[in-house]
Amino acid sequence: MPGKCRLVRQGPRRPISIGGVMVGEQGKPVVIAGPCSVEDREMIRETADYIAREIVDGLGFKRIILRGGCWKPRTSPYSFQGHGWRAVEWLREAGDRAGLPVITEVMDPRHVAGLAGMVDAVWVGARNMQNTPLLLELASGFPGPVLLKRHFGALIEEWLCAAEYLLANGKEDVALIERGTRGINEYARFTLDVTVIPIVKQEARLPLVVDVSHPAGKRSLVPALARAALAAGADGIMVEVHPEPGRALSDKDQQLGLEEFRRLLESLMEMKLL
Ligand code: PEP
Ligand code: MN
Repeated sequence: MPGKCRLVRQGPRRPISIGGVMVGEQGKPVVIAGPCSVEDREMIRETADYIAREIVDGLGFKRIILRGGCWKPRTSPYSFQGHGWRAVEWLREAGDRAGLPVITEVMDPRHVAGLAGMVDAVWVGARNMQNTPLLLELASGFPGPVLLKRHFGALIEEWLCAAEYLLANGKEDVALIERGTRGINEYARFTLDVTVIPIVKQEARLPLVVDVSHPAGKRSLVPALARAALAAGADGIMVEVHPEPGRALSDKDQQLGLEEFRRLLESLMEMKLL
């Protein structure tokens, strides 16, 4: 099966621009950071303002994008599902105030048109990697970049072929996100597939970001996974950050506090990984 999808392989490497932040430029990894879910206007503002003040101005690290989930793909129907369009507005407002580009997860093809004017980019979550109606709607109806997460049970070729759906239908600005696969390590939530990083670099011409929070499942593992991802050549990391992680409505064990996040970025910069 390897080699089946060709657009993902052919042609020059193509960095994408998320609101002016370039993802996929050699030696210039990015950071996509923010809460698992946008819980209210204040918490996303606080996160964005902190990033602008302490990371962009304080540390001088400018290649940063604000993330926040607005519709959440939860395992249980009784868990918090996200605030939907209200959250999209809060995310946009917080990003504009702080001067940060914003990205959210798109789960439903019916949301694509509305998201077009509201966010700088979208990601497709792991569970929707092979949702072809969603991919086709994004290819035709979303003007910005699309970042495609790998399903936790997907082969590399299945993931690349899902990206091929976007490319083959006219979407040029596509990047990939590795976020861990199901494994036999019961101490972590998923198993970060570090091996996939050089493989995707060899096989595909698309930028690759590594979500280091969802494989970790707990905060204490996040810094080591961030170092590993960047050392292995990822074009960036995605990290969940929350002003009060202990009170988060989703993924509270893995989100970093704001100060903890600043320390992580500082150490990654000292190690020349960022
Ligand atoms: C997320 O990034 O908030 C998320 C739900 O991730 P995944 O789709 O990788 O589980
Ligand atoms: Mn999450």
